[in-house]
Amino acid sequence: MKSIQEFYPFLAQGQKRVVVTMHQKPDPDAMGSSLGLAHFLKKLGHHVQVISPTNWADFLKWMPGCEEVMDYEFSKEKADKILFEAEWLFCLDFNALYRTRHMAQVLEKLTCTKILIDHHEQPQKESFDFGNSVVPKSSTAELIFEFIMESGHQHLIDVPISECLYAGVMSDTGSFRFPSTTSSVFEMVAFLKKTGFNHSKIHEEVYDNYLENRLRFLGHVLSNRLEILYEYNTAVISIPKSDILRFNIRTGDTEGLVNYPLSIKGIKFAALLIDRDEERKWSFRSKGSFDCNQFARNYFEGGGHKNAAGGRSSASVDENNKEFKRVLKEVASQLQ
Ligand code: 5GP
Ligand code: MN
Repeated sequence: MKSIQEFYPFLAQGQKRVVVTMHQKPDPDAMGSSLGLAHFLKKLGHHVQVISPTNWADFLKWMPGCEEVMDYEFSKEKADKILFEAEWLFCLDFNALYRTRHMAQVLEKLTCTKILIDHHEQPQKESFDFGNSVVPKSSTAELIFEFIMESGHQHLIDVPISECLYAGVMSDTGSFRFPSTTSSVFEMVAFLKKTGFNHSKIHEEVYDNYLENRLRFLGHVLSNRLEILYEYNTAVISIPKSDILRFNIRTGDTEGLVNYPLSIKGIKFAALLIDRDEERKWSFRSKGSFDCNQFARNYFEGGGHKNAAGGRSSASVDENNKEFKRVLKEVASQLQ
């Protein structure tokens, strides 16, 4: 993988056919950085299609350009045609092709120029021609901001680009509270803010846009599905399929749920298990030194960042819970 700086001279080559993609079930950083980059590349005269590997949450639909994003699972044939005709493929906010789910087998076959821009640990560098993988960065949105600035195009940053990038960095920094919120994050926000976008509106669009059922679900989950394991300073939430059906839970409704247990004094590690149709999905969050990425990699076929990672399993919810408690004993010393 060559450095991203070596790619900058190609940006001026006009009218390229470009696909921008992101990880499955995109969060505000995946969608915001992809749309921010797409707006920028269009301003340079390129033909850009954003393709998401799966559907996405309603709280992303306000983003400028979101209405033109293609859902790979919904429009597979059309998307495959666009992918095979692309000259450049940008992969944003993921570190390994399997994170694009059913799209991965097609992405592996593509011979076009592939560019990775991401901040997850241990990237699959051999799959990309150019890239920028910076683990300490707050968000992929911050990396896209740098990409635009460093390549000499800061004058192209307008309100739609600012809105998309702000949503990404806001979400991945937990509204600017995580340690990854460096001075360069605030400098970026100050620069974006000068374009005149309304940042309060973005917090409302992302965080105050749920339906009643989601709040009732949250109450139910915190009352009945949360287990605190004080001896490990750990909390685990386990959500069976019956809850998903009863509360009519859709993509995005479980976003942020895993963070609630970390508000309990002394809790250093929180885990959330959701029974999805195709697999059991884990989310892990920690405060301080406990390494969620390593935990997810070692025990649950996943990965991510030190303080936020995800994983999966094909075993049942009960088996997963048993396994979680078993492996917790192995890492107990790291949680004291
Ligand atoms: P979430 O719990 O919100 O699904 O994911 C937390 C973080 O870990 C996100 O940055 C997400 O991209 C990453 N992540 C989630 N699942 C996986 C996985 O299976 N593999 C890797 N490498 N990263 C993941
Ligand atoms: Mn991210």
